[in-house]
Amino acid sequence: MAAITFFADVLGQEAVKAGLERALEAGRLPHGVLFYGPKGTGKFAAAHSLAKVILCEKKSGCGDCAGCKKTAAMSHPDLLITIPLPSAGSPPEKKKEEARQAVYTDFLEKKRKNPYNPVWKENADFITVSDLQNLQERLSRKPMEADWRVAILVEADRLQLPQGANKLLKTLEEPHKNTLIILIAERPKNLLPTILSRTQKFFFPPLSSERAAGFAAKEFGLSKKAAGELAAMASGSIAKLYFLQKEEELERRQQAWEVLKLTLSGQEAPLFLALKMAADTRKKEEVLSFLSWLEVFLWEFFCLSELKQPERVASADLRPEFEKAALASKTSFPYLAALHEVGKTRVDLERNVNFRLALFWLFARILRAKPSQLLKPPITQVR
Ligand SMILES: [Zn+2]
Repeated sequence: MAAITFFADVLGQEAVKAGLERALEAGRLPHGVLFYGPKGTGKFAAAHSLAKVILCEKKSGCGDCAGCKKTAAMSHPDLLITIPLPSAGSPPEKKKEEARQAVYTDFLEKKRKNPYNPVWKENADFITVSDLQNLQERLSRKPMEADWRVAILVEADRLQLPQGANKLLKTLEEPHKNTLIILIAERPKNLLPTILSRTQKFFFPPLSSERAAGFAAKEFGLSKKAAGELAAMASGSIAKLYFLQKEEELERRQQAWEVLKLTLSGQEAPLFLALKMAADTRKKEEVLSFLSWLEVFLWEFFCLSELKQPERVASADLRPEFEKAALASKTSFPYLAALHEVGKTRVDLERNVNFRLALFWLFARILRAKPSQLLKPPITQVR
């Protein structure tokens, strides 16, 4: 008999798929799992596929039964999807409630079309405490149609602290029989250790450029050459493939590279001018995207100049420029400290601080960090 392939719709991620398949076949799936890793690596697609198997009448994700069809349409009553949403106000206001509903419907619609489609949720900074309360109540009841309930928490690292985290912890601590809770997070460090310890963790690394190119060719109808060029810029992230369809995103990527070049060469005046430009927007989404490019480049630069692993540089189009800049910089740069600072700024932005100030402070801190503050490279973890 051929091996069952539960996750045919999930790109790459062989290790995750093999781990989940083993657990499913042995009937040893834990109550809580955490899918973590960079944006656009298929965490939601995998969670959705896993839900399909569990809510399938034949427990295979056959695609034909009512359970599979409803899960595919994201309308199965035993599939509970929780995402960060704007607050409804307290006491709840009708207008805000409608806005929340609109964000949620838009999310489901886009994910239904393609689970890899990245969805920006305007003003949706946190998973609210009342949504977690609601989830907890629904999970305490019996499944409605299937014999299991599956809860997916998207961006589970964005909880209202501390009440939200405590609610989630309670939900994980008192698992009901036949309940699976899937947490999805880009930055699991933001989750409480007590939450982390109650989940089985699956890491989603960036996808290979071949896989990303294949996706781009199929989904966007690009030629092989165009798909390859797009994939070379996307750093193994399908979300970035979607973003890069827009001219502005290409500019933002270029902007992030310019900023990093100026930082590496210590040209402060043009650097702060470039930062002012990057912050010149009303959309938080755009500043976050600028920071995410910066993270990609810092990491790749670190791999190139400190770890001496050029093969880890996924941004193939910039590689010659990277190498030139790496050769030109005589002193070592605090890449990891800088990455840490960028991560902190992303969290700050989620709490609605002034964009320009946030970016200025970020680079003031990065320029002040000395290479001696360089954290030990996580050699054991980078493989
Ligand atoms: Zn089925």
